Amino acid sequence: MKEIEINDKQRYLTENYPFGNNPPNLADKRECIHCGKVITVGDFKVFKDKYGDEYISCPNAPDCDGTIIDWITVKK
Ligand SMILES: [Zn+2]
Repeated sequence: MKEIEINDKQRYLTENYPFGNNPPNLADKRECIHCGKVITVGDFKVFKDKYGDEYISCPNAPDCDGTIIDWITVKK
């Protein structure tokens, strides 16, 4: 997996968000259930595999293998 650079992260998130057309804002916080850390959505990284598929990954990648589907709303 190779990390790729995203210039317009909000646009990337809008175009690639897996759960419909209402993506979180870059400033929103989520909890990653893989590493258990609270992350800022806009800190996401994008990795591309050898087939050309891109993954919106945890900011703690590659130490954490979580992706956007592993992020849950932070409990208040
Ligand atoms: Zn994580």
